[in-house]
Amino acid sequence: MRVAVLTGGTHVHVALREGERELLRETLPAGAPGATVAAVADRVAGHRPDVLGLASFGPIDVDPASPTRGHLRATPKPGWNDFPLGPELARALGVAAWAVDTDVNAAARAEAAHGGETALAYVTVGTGVGVGWVHQGRTARAPDHPEAGHLPGDPADPFRGVCTFHGACVEGLVSGPALRARSGGDPAALSDDDPLWDWVARDLAHLVHAVMLLVPVERVILGGGVPEARPFLGGLVEARARALAGAYRRIPEGLVGPPRVTRPDLEGAFLLADEARAW
Ligand SMILES: [Zn+2]
Repeated sequence: MRVAVLTGGTHVHVALREGERELLRETLPAGAPGATVAAVADRVAGHRPDVLGLASFGPIDVDPASPTRGHLRATPKPGWNDFPLGPELARALGVAAWAVDTDVNAAARAEAAHGGETALAYVTVGTGVGVGWVHQGRTARAPDHPEAGHLPGDPADPFRGVCTFHGACVEGLVSGPALRARSGGDPAALSDDDPLWDWVARDLAHLVHAVMLLVPVERVILGGGVPEARPFLGGLVEARARALAGAYRRIPEGLVGPPRVTRPDLEGAFLLADEARAW
């Protein structure tokens, strides 16, 4: 029996499968870390999962050989700094084996498994900006996971950015909090033809272009709350990325598209549970 746990900024998702049959799927609020682990274990009580797949927000140690595997790192989320999330969950759930990856790497795994791509990037734009990358079914986990959401955005973007660490990185320019700061209110109230969306597309195009130069992929999935609410962004980002790439790096038609898997980050956590079983 596999248990999949997905930890996000405000919520934790937990699901159980025996073979392909789903026995449980619940969403819990993410409070203090110890209480959150206890709440997950409480929901799973009565079942006996043997493997755990954990997909977590980062930064988190995902190096399979690291003594602090599954420990969170410097996170702005209060109380979660350095919390040994993976080991604590594994202990509370009583599983024999577990595997951990970032939420975006997990989503990239599920999307590539679904679409059969050899190389794929999953970009999420919501509370933060994250990039997962998968190549031949594997993600980069050692010595560390990618943090491409903190690459620079369009140098012509006049906004100063809100990232605590970098100011005008892509996350600092186009995440939910950045859009609130830029629009001076609720970005949901902006019309689709507001000029802000073109800056968002330009900043994300710099990210996609950088990904294509460094680790070429067959597909870029653009997920998360912002593109979900503004589905036209995918086409704009692709067009802007193509203009940036010029003749040097081909940006194929249809490179950027929406997720094809429902809740791909949680599906990816199940793939991690399979991986844990194989070890
Ligand atoms: Zn940053």
